[in-house]
Amino acid sequence: MPHNGTMLDRGSSTRTRRAQAVFVAVLVGLLLSVRPFIGDLHHAAPTFAVPILMYHHIGDWGPSNPGWSDWVVKPADFSAQLDWLKREGYSTLTFRDILALQDRRVPLPPKSVVITFDDGWAYQGVVAKAELDPRGMRAVFFVYTGAIGATPNGSGYISWEELRELERHGHEVQSHTIGHPRLVDLSTPVLAHELAQSRLIIERQVGHPVRVLAYPFGIHDDRVLKATQEAGYDLAVRADDSNSVLPHKNFHLPRIRMGYQDGIEMFAAHMRSFEQAR
Ligand SMILES: [Zn+2]
Repeated sequence: MPHNGTMLDRGSSTRTRRAQAVFVAVLVGLLLSVRPFIGDLHHAAPTFAVPILMYHHIGDWGPSNPGWSDWVVKPADFSAQLDWLKREGYSTLTFRDILALQDRRVPLPPKSVVITFDDGWAYQGVVAKAELDPRGMRAVFFVYTGAIGATPNGSGYISWEELRELERHGHEVQSHTIGHPRLVDLSTPVLAHELAQSRLIIERQVGHPVRVLAYPFGIHDDRVLKATQEAGYDLAVRADDSNSVLPHKNFHLPRIRMGYQDGIEMFAAHMRSFEQAR
C-alpha cells in the first residue's frame, strides 16, 4: 500500500485543531488573493481560494485498520457530505475548469468546490457512478500511472478504460506521479522523469493536457516544487492538513481531509470556514 499515514497526520491531534488550521489557511489564502499575482511563480496566474476535498477510501472498514482510519470515509458520511453540498448550492469544478477561468482572468464562481480522490483505487470509480453521477457532481482522480492497467484486472486499482469512462461523465484525471515515491528523496533526473513522464502517459491515455500534480504523501520541498513547475504543471496539491496554515499558493494548495470519525458537523464547519472568509 502506498500510504502509511504517518508522514501525513503528524501533529493533527484533535479535530478542533484541524478546523482551526483550515480556517487560518483560508483566511491567509484570501488575504493573499487580493494581490492579483503571486510573484514567486514563473506562471503568473492569479491565486485562488476554493475548498478542495481529499478522499482516498470510501468504506466501512476504517476501525479494522487503525493506520488507515484517517484515510477512510464511511459511505453514509460521504453521501451526507455530498447531500450537504447540494443543499447548500455548491457546484463541483475540475482543475481544468479552474485553469480555464484563471487563464481568462475570470474569478471562480462562489460556492465552488473541488472533490479529489487519490491513488486510483478501483472502488473510487464505483463510488463516482453511484454517488457523484446521480447528483450531477464531478471529481478529480489523481492516479499514479504504475498502478493502472489497460482494463479492469482485479488488482484493486482502476484501469485506463475505467478512467476514460469517468472522463466521459465529466470527471477528470490528473497526475500523482508514476510510482508514488517520496519525491524529496529522488535524484534530480529521476524526479524530473516521475513528474514529466506521468504527465505524458496520462495525456496519451485520456487525451487532454495534465497540468495538476498531487504530491505523493503530500511531501515536497523547494526543489520538488521547482521541478514540478519545470515539468509543466500549473498547480499542485498537498495531502496533509496539519500544515495547512500555508497560504493558498498554486503549488501548495491545501486540501480538506475527512476521516473516519469526522461527521457532517465537522464537514460543515470546514466548508463554512471558506464561506465566512470570502
Ligand atoms: Zn497517494
